[in-house]
Amino acid sequence: MEEKIQELISEVEAFEASNKEQAEAFRLKYLSKKGIIAGLFAEMKNVQPDQRKEYGLIVNELKNKAENKFQVLSESLDASGGDASGPVKDLTLPAEPYETGARHPISIVRKQIVSIFSRIGYTVSEGPEIEDDWHNFTALNFPENHPARDMQDTFFIRQGATDKDAIALRTHTSSVQVRVMENSQPPIRTISPGRVYRNEAISARAHCFFHQVEGLYIDEGVSFADLKQTLLYFAKEMFGSDTKIRLRPSYFPFTEPSAEMDVTCSICKGKGCNVCKHTGWLEILGCGMVDPNVLDNCKIDSKKYSGFAFGMGIERIAMLRYDINDLRLFSENDIRFLKQFRGEIA
Ligand SMILES: [Zn+2]
Repeated sequence: MEEKIQELISEVEAFEASNKEQAEAFRLKYLSKKGIIAGLFAEMKNVQPDQRKEYGLIVNELKNKAENKFQVLSESLDASGGDASGPVKDLTLPAEPYETGARHPISIVRKQIVSIFSRIGYTVSEGPEIEDDWHNFTALNFPENHPARDMQDTFFIRQGATDKDAIALRTHTSSVQVRVMENSQPPIRTISPGRVYRNEAISARAHCFFHQVEGLYIDEGVSFADLKQTLLYFAKEMFGSDTKIRLRPSYFPFTEPSAEMDVTCSICKGKGCNVCKHTGWLEILGCGMVDPNVLDNCKIDSKKYSGFAFGMGIERIAMLRYDINDLRLFSENDIRFLKQFRGEIA
């Protein structure tokens, strides 16, 4: 019996009314002469004498709660013109806490890179993600049918009769640099951040889309020394002032000579650890002097001007900076991962 009355108490406490009819139905059900509470009081005579006191107390509690609830409902319905659409609101309650979001780590690192280069006079340029063959390959010294194209297998929107009719998702943001060179004359100093695509199997270290920042500087008398000093400045700003760099010879169709750049491992400070595979160095970008063929393709006089270019993956930098071990985390939208960047200021 007592259990049943406890249930009724919870029911009364949880009751909400959005209009006067519902409030009146509540009153009739519990508080009228033929209502539940009157019935419970009438039952009193059947209760064992030694339990009557306890029974009386609990029924009284139910009665008080019901009366109180009806009064509160009536007052709030009167105040709202008899029809509160929705539950009764207590405006004195503290507001519900809401969670602040976080920037995506890719956005944080992209902003940091842009900020570092903008301090030495680089502008930001953007271009389309769907590119023609000329801007993505041919202008950048990838000849038609040349095996160098296999380094960057991509997704074709239209596979033309020949390579040069093809339309594809861009494999790098170097295509933006071609557009900048075609539309302006040196001095050119620009970086191109953006999303790029490669036909790769998805794993912890590779994805079919990722983000790049490519940089380009063209002017009279630009030398490899300028390239090295610019990248040293970037490495110190990004990874700390005690960071060292080293350049290793490499190959890209659009630069000559070409190099890969390593920075000293920021975790072991060059002593050797798991992250740097005990070498003390981490590879972070590719670079080189712009091939004169590329300048000529873009109507820039290669006899008068020279320049350098570099390109890096934003995911790679973010993984090193935040010690992230799986590339897939960036695109899985796992809130537990994303929440960890709440305190980061870009
Ligand atoms: Zn290390």
